Amino acid sequence: ARPRVVVVGGGSGGATAARYIAKDSQGAIDVTLVEPSREYYTCYFSNLYLGGFRELDSLAHGYGTLASEYGINVVHDWAVGVDREARTVSLAGGATLPYDRLILSPGIDFVDGAVPGWDLSAQDVMPHAYKAGTQTALLKAQVQAMPEGGVFAMVAPPNPYRCPPGPYERVSMVAHMLKANNPTAKILIVDPKESFSKQGLFEEGWQKHYTGMIDRIGPDFGATNVEVRPDTMEVLIDGVAEKVDVCNVIPAQKAGRICELAGITDGNWAPVIPHTMQSRIDENIHVLGDASAQGDMPKSGFSANSQAKVAAMAVRGALTGSQVFPARFSNTCWSLIATDDGVKVGASYEATDEKIASVEGFVSQTGEDAALRKQTYEESIGWYNGIVADMFG
Ligand code: FAD
Repeated sequence: ARPRVVVVGGGSGGATAARYIAKDSQGAIDVTLVEPSREYYTCYFSNLYLGGFRELDSLAHGYGTLASEYGINVVHDWAVGVDREARTVSLAGGATLPYDRLILSPGIDFVDGAVPGWDLSAQDVMPHAYKAGTQTALLKAQVQAMPEGGVFAMVAPPNPYRCPPGPYERVSMVAHMLKANNPTAKILIVDPKESFSKQGLFEEGWQKHYTGMIDRIGPDFGATNVEVRPDTMEVLIDGVAEKVDVCNVIPAQKAGRICELAGITDGNWAPVIPHTMQSRIDENIHVLGDASAQGDMPKSGFSANSQAKVAAMAVRGALTGSQVFPARFSNTCWSLIATDDGVKVGASYEATDEKIASVEGFVSQTGEDAALRKQTYEESIGWYNGIVADMFG
């Protein structure tokens, strides 16, 4: 019988891993991909949709080619349990899938109680929009419905979280939309972190494009003591209530719950061996992307895709004896600040026994000219088209 690989999560890490294992093993490995959604909405470029630069439909991708072209068994269901002794995954629909290797790339879930007053039952009033699709559409509709001169608040997450520049690109895109439609509106960021990704670049851009519109309250002014009241649309900062019109709550994060259920987490995340992305707790399980604790790489789609290729090579090596090369990883995070004003930060990485370690990095500079910023934005469009093709075929 062919060796069996089950992949849980059809996102940046999981879809890539499934496709590479199926493609490169040419049928020698039986690959099953478990994913509840029939359409995956990328979080990448979801902020651009908020800013009016993309249509929501352009973020949606289906699994048809993975099934028809690569022979992957795509199962639309939730994984609800892992029996590590028996090496099986159980699904909400009742099926049990046996595996020789299991790949978990479930993304994030939110830490319970991270923002007092908020839980998942409040997401229709105070959306997180940190998993893309209906949440993103809701947030955009709320911004569009803001009264003239209204207040958009964001409760930013503590480290580590999915997409370090994501909240700040979002603020830029919301500001871009408000500047055109509601120029006296204000944006308030309540941020528990001292500093954030590409801060100098964002602050320069906000000053230039959205003067006087954006206020950020950091930990020195009470942002570590924040509470929300969805029923009255209030944010309490150090006990002082502020009435707002939109409140985007991005809570603290942890590995997708299936990692906990599989018993492979240590704290909030699932530690992995950098050379192969194998769980440090169970060598038959590989963990990719946001859910993994791997070292220096940011939690990004680019990172998850890069890690997936390393894991795919390791899995094929283990199951079919194919050659395995030393692990190399890379990442770039692009952000759009305003029309044609793109910035980026990135690095290459290698595997050490201890962690995925950064080798060499680069970052956009303040004061760059418009032509370079436009080129950086265009690069990001090329990257988007490339990664979705790499994931979905
Ligand atoms: P995901 O891509 O989220 O995939 C997880 C999948 O697992 C989901 O489809 C989910 O339905 C499924 N799943 C979860 N639990 C189960 C279960 N029990 N059973 C079955 N399926 C399950 N990254 C970039 O590289 N560039 C960017 O520009 C960028 N911009 C971003 C902007 C925003 C606003 C946000 C929020 C994120 C952004 N990211 C960006 C980050 C990127 O989206 C994530 O880091 C990346 O998607 C992580 O990949 P993953 O495979 O870990 O998880």
